[in-house]
Amino acid sequence: MDDVTEAEGLLEFLYAAPVGLVQIDMSGDIAMINPHAMKHLLPLAQGRDPGNLFAMLDRCAPELRNMLEAFEPSRGSVCDGHRIMVDLAPPTDGADPKVLACTVVKLDAERAIACLSDVTLQVAQERRLKQAETWFASLLNDVNDYAVLSVTADGLIDAANASWTKQSGYSCDAAVGRSMADLFDRTAGAGAIAVCEQLRLAARDGWHLAEDWHERLDGSRYWCQRLLAARTAPEGDLTGYTLVLRDVRRDSQDAHDLRRLLTEDHLTGAANRARFQHVLDRELKTWRETGAPLSLLMIDLDHFKQVNDDYGHLAGDAVLRGFAETVAAAIRPTDLLARLGGEEFAVLLPATPLEEARSIANELRTLIEDMRTVSGPHRIAVTASFGCAVASGQDVLARADEALYVAKRSGRNCVQAARPAAIAA
Ligand code: GH3
Ligand code: MG
Ligand code: MG
Repeated sequence: MDDVTEAEGLLEFLYAAPVGLVQIDMSGDIAMINPHAMKHLLPLAQGRDPGNLFAMLDRCAPELRNMLEAFEPSRGSVCDGHRIMVDLAPPTDGADPKVLACTVVKLDAERAIACLSDVTLQVAQERRLKQAETWFASLLNDVNDYAVLSVTADGLIDAANASWTKQSGYSCDAAVGRSMADLFDRTAGAGAIAVCEQLRLAARDGWHLAEDWHERLDGSRYWCQRLLAARTAPEGDLTGYTLVLRDVRRDSQDAHDLRRLLTEDHLTGAANRARFQHVLDRELKTWRETGAPLSLLMIDLDHFKQVNDDYGHLAGDAVLRGFAETVAAAIRPTDLLARLGGEEFAVLLPATPLEEARSIANELRTLIEDMRTVSGPHRIAVTASFGCAVASGQDVLARADEALYVAKRSGRNCVQAARPAAIAA
């Protein structure tokens, strides 16, 4: 085959392939793209350069650019099936949010091929399967894993059922006669409420729930959920307690991991976009129902590319983590910090009018300005620009974004607020 027919064959393949294929250079500029890839990517461009893959994916997969940049070998697989959540807002018709799988292969020092396929269905099925698994696991634990001890009013164990032996390894005889404190205080984690206090609370309130580590006879540990219920005589005197123990290690861990996976940004621990959108929708509903003002801050780190260029990506990552930590520590428990893209964050401020939002933004701006991220011999300083908007008839996200754009244009490291009337005009 001569070069021309080979090139033609390749082009034909590229166009007919049932997946999206894009050939790019190291800066993401597109040399070739097939119709499938166009179908996936063009809706994402929205004002960004449609000739550059990274520009189009800037909002939903800013990490791709870094992954290619950080990939040192001259050729090879940069990522394989990397998942990209495409939908910023979840579809309103109840459909599953769109997810693309992206595989990038570096061909040589100048070229890479990105392969995009739609895995929305597969991801939705996996998620449902996982949810069902966690659910079934907890159901099974519910029926199998209860151990029951009877405790005297003085806190001594006077009976235990067979599940107790299965759960803890201790025989019933080994438990009977021992004090509950003796069995549980020794292995409890720091900060746990002492057993004598738990007994007092159960006597006062009727019951007490505790979760803590418990050590089995063989020295292994399990996460133990304990319900301590007070038993009283008809005239109200305390006669003893019933202690129900549940080994919840497996399902609580799974549920915890699953929740983190679905709601948290992996680098900074801030809420991810999906969680942000969910909470924003909920707060907008509250705002419509109650009229309590709802404000939103959009934050973008200034000249962040320069931080990466000067100190490296790992240092850049550390700055992003420091940023999230600083902001999360400064906002109120009812506020929500989310990472919407690479170095772009949002803070949702329920029950907050615009003026207050603006002053919160200014406080955060000063905190970031004063923050230093230590990386090797360097103490890295950054600033951020803030746009704020209060919920009104128009899209609050878009208006906060516009205000952020104004903040960038007016010199960065500042706060700009969107005035609904001005923007509407
Ligand atoms: P501006 O003040 O206009 O916002 O300038 P900028 O340099 O911050 O903006 P630009 O959008 O040009 O660059 C953003 C940079 O953020 C580019 C990208 O390499 C970097 N970035 C995005 N995500 C990450 C990440 O997860 N880790 C690191 N280290 N860098 C990231
Ligand atoms: Mg920036
Ligand atoms: Mg940005």
